Amino acid sequence: MGFCGKKLLILRPAVVHTNCACKTQINYIQNIMINITLPDGAVRQYEKGSTALDIAKSISEGLARKVLAAQVNEEIWDATRPINKDAKLKLLTWNDTEGKSTFWHSSAHLMAEAVESMFPGVKFWVGPPVENGFYYDMDLGDRKMSEEDLLALEKKMNELAKQNNPYERKEVGKKEALNYFSEKGDEYKLDLLAGLQDGEITFYTQGKFTDLCRGPHIPSTGFIKAIKLTSIAGAYWKGNEQNKMLTRVYGVTYPSQKELDEYLVMLEEAKKRDHRKLGKELSIFTMDDDVGPGLALWLPNGTIIIEELEKLAKETELEAGYKRVVTPHIAKESMYITSGHLPYYADSMYPPMELEGEKYYLKSMNCPHHHKIFAAEPKSYRDLPYRLAEYGTVYRYEQSGELFGIMRVRCLHMNDAHIYCTKDQFNEEFRAVNEMYLKYFKIFGIEKYVMRLSLHSPDKLGVKYVNEPALWKETEVMVRNVLTESNIPFVEVQDEAAFYGPKIDVQIYSAIGREFTLATNQVDFSQGRSFKLEYTTPENTAETPLIIHRAPLGTHERFIGFLLEQYAGKFPLWLAPVQVKLLPISDKFLDYAKSVSDKLKKSDIRAEVDDRPEKIGKKIRDAELLKVPYMLVVGEKEMNEGKVAVRRHHIGDLGTTLVDTFIQEASEEIRERRGEGKSKEDYRFF
Ligand SMILES: [Zn+2]
Ligand SMILES: [Zn+2]
Repeated sequence: MGFCGKKLLILRPAVVHTNCACKTQINYIQNIMINITLPDGAVRQYEKGSTALDIAKSISEGLARKVLAAQVNEEIWDATRPINKDAKLKLLTWNDTEGKSTFWHSSAHLMAEAVESMFPGVKFWVGPPVENGFYYDMDLGDRKMSEEDLLALEKKMNELAKQNNPYERKEVGKKEALNYFSEKGDEYKLDLLAGLQDGEITFYTQGKFTDLCRGPHIPSTGFIKAIKLTSIAGAYWKGNEQNKMLTRVYGVTYPSQKELDEYLVMLEEAKKRDHRKLGKELSIFTMDDDVGPGLALWLPNGTIIIEELEKLAKETELEAGYKRVVTPHIAKESMYITSGHLPYYADSMYPPMELEGEKYYLKSMNCPHHHKIFAAEPKSYRDLPYRLAEYGTVYRYEQSGELFGIMRVRCLHMNDAHIYCTKDQFNEEFRAVNEMYLKYFKIFGIEKYVMRLSLHSPDKLGVKYVNEPALWKETEVMVRNVLTESNIPFVEVQDEAAFYGPKIDVQIYSAIGREFTLATNQVDFSQGRSFKLEYTTPENTAETPLIIHRAPLGTHERFIGFLLEQYAGKFPLWLAPVQVKLLPISDKFLDYAKSVSDKLKKSDIRAEVDDRPEKIGKKIRDAELLKVPYMLVVGEKEMNEGKVAVRRHHIGDLGTTLVDTFIQEASEEIRERRGEGKSKEDYRFF
């Protein structure tokens, strides 16, 4: 036989000789060869048992050095796991999300190995990858981990990474697995095992560390070239406050030191821009124990930003033909049963209040209230599209461990609206909504965004999705067409739709590249029926409208959190809580400063006078710290000439100008909702 001992073999198409001696060989070939379909559609033959890494090597050695994992058919696998059947194969590298998460998850194993060597007897819960890096939850007994321990752990991890130990997968029977972790005395892994059956249990070992894990992992520890353990935190076991508090160690790793260094610089910047820190420094919002977790109190400065955002939304929506409504914060149980929120989403709602023998819920959505407004008066086709808008307050029960500043809260103010339209009007309406998103992105300087078209999954009809196969198909095509026609870049994801229709999730990226899920734009062909919403057609028949749910500015909470990071607290003039600070050089000019300030206020410019007996240098420094856009310095010369010396935050001196000229220029900047300028040339006060 001509087969060598090498695992990998690529054959040219075999010629089948039906009646000759080589038939045996062909049968043999057919038994031991598999067809691998690559992403470009090419089909190659490999010996059965070849791994993704073998296949990468057959393409190029350089590629093989980058392969972290593989997508085999629909599953993510170890690149070193033998493939025994024909399969579709995609090699995953650092540039793929799944490649990155496999890298980070494998790094969690490496960290666990280092922890176990430093803290013998430690017990491990779970160690998943996260958005930027990984963590592992562990029980250190009565020992504590310090910041210095993190440095020692990093050192140990580097040492173990250099050993380039392979991550070895082993299928294990449940009994054997139970024995292993009983002997180790790790009740957390035993708890995980309780939910698993024979045939679905695998162990992974690298170096001296063995973990219960489904995988996948990178081929070996040597891929991990740069390591940083970022923080230690407490985390309740299974996220439940009744359970024991475990130690959670966060870390991040990279395939090169350069990439890690760049990431750390970004992280420093993110810390400076942390919305919780800036929110406090700039007096935007506060939280209070007596009010409760996740319930933000908006301070006067934050309220100004809220009002400016609402003003923008109201102007935009009025222009786009929306009507404004106001609805109560609570509603009876029966309404949420009609809408389908109960009983399915009861967990994410506040518990009910009993009143006059009825149950009332705090609203977690504005939609049902708006549907009732639609239904309040008879509608004909002439009334459509019917667009109802409300900055609605909703309440959602987020677990306390999930709460995060104002980004994840329990009381939200939502830029909500519902559009009721005919099928013929849908395209136009949906397109207009998308354009509204783009208009807002421009105003807020959001340059990078992704729209994700979330579709249903046909095998989950009747479970996760309303059982209307034809309507799903129809509306998904409609939404896709709108996106394609308006040339908006988008990606499609299966099985992420809302339960009543397809949706578009909008992901935006802040100035430092962090991702935020802003809002969704959803189609709904189901709630109209549940609420028996109808309009009469020109033929005098009754028809159910389609509904579009949209919230381009998301919630005040999430959006202002985003803006704080986006602007690093330096709000553009139109949003800044204090727009102008008058800085008199001495008390002698206080009256003049006050008169200028009054004049500004009459022109709807938010101005304040710094009347403290401080030196002008200090007044300027303090105004800079508060990130006030304009500082107007006034002294003898300015007073005598009716002028002000203009300073722009972060840019500096812009020259001296007449008060009226300043008012004119600043008012225009506000009216146009202009963004921050980059240099003196962007301002006109010379
Ligand atoms: Zn693992
Ligand atoms: Zn809605």
